[in-house]
Amino acid sequence: MAFILQRLKLPLPLRLDHINAYLVAGPGGHALIDTGMATPDGQQALEDALRAHGVEPAGLRQLFITHYHGDHWGHAAWLRSLGVEVVMPRRDSELLQAWLAHPEHDERSVSTFLRRGVPAGVLRRAARALVSMRRLSPPFQTDRTVEDGEVLELGGEPFEVVVTPGHSPGHACLLHRPSRELICGDHVLPHITPNVSFELGAAENPLADYRASLRRVRGLGLERAWPAHGEPMTDLDARVTELLAHHEEREALLLRGLAGEPRTAYELAGHLFELPRLDSWETWMALGETMAHVVAAQARGRLRLLVGEDGIERYLIAGPDAARGATC
Ligand SMILES: [Zn+2]
Repeated sequence: MAFILQRLKLPLPLRLDHINAYLVAGPGGHALIDTGMATPDGQQALEDALRAHGVEPAGLRQLFITHYHGDHWGHAAWLRSLGVEVVMPRRDSELLQAWLAHPEHDERSVSTFLRRGVPAGVLRRAARALVSMRRLSPPFQTDRTVEDGEVLELGGEPFEVVVTPGHSPGHACLLHRPSRELICGDHVLPHITPNVSFELGAAENPLADYRASLRRVRGLGLERAWPAHGEPMTDLDARVTELLAHHEEREALLLRGLAGEPRTAYELAGHLFELPRLDSWETWMALGETMAHVVAAQARGRLRLLVGEDGIERYLIAGPDAARGATC
């Protein structure tokens, strides 16, 4: 039997209304990559999609989860209860297990935004979005973790783990060298720019990580790249170049937002995003991405932090000393 990769388009209860899970069918059986969120609709859609390809959920050998975001692993607990081995990149597995064990983490991360100038009402809505995300996140244990460069057999086929931190700290793509195909999770998406958020207790400079990870998947000579949202890509290199340029433009926009007086991260978020048009979950991601830009620009010596007597953090364009990390 030849190796076959099937895209399973599953519904999500978000404005981003679908996720692509992938079914690998090969001489070594069946494996699934990502699952969608744990809604009843999502589970039914996953069961139907698997059965349409002649596979019972309990007939899967492995589930590989590209990264720790809830839309990628919502059915992990259910599949594991059927005997499916759950495999994840190590760093994201550790962070996810810590998040599952500590619900109070959400409150701590929300409260850090108070000193970043975010109004309490906006934060209350963000907190509610995080609570509903937890509700759709049944805990599970990872059976096996994998590292960068490791070769994982799915369906009896060799998939090389390419760890691409940025969208999440341990995000991993899977490279199938014989067919020159890359399953790229949320690392590179065709129509939307993957969210890169600064998250409490995770990466120090996620945007710098993301830029490096984008460069890492350029020039692989791929036939096709399969994203977790949207259509497959035949020119991944061109999309990578666009995403790199996009983040340079966003940084320039952020710095223009600082011309004049010091600004809070919330004011800068309003400069980068149309906040009134975003729902609570999107607002939370916009705040995280603004912070990722702030941290990256700070590391490049382009802006600096000023903590006022009110305890609120504001940023301003850096002078020549700021590159050495000066703050006042
Ligand atoms: Zn994601």
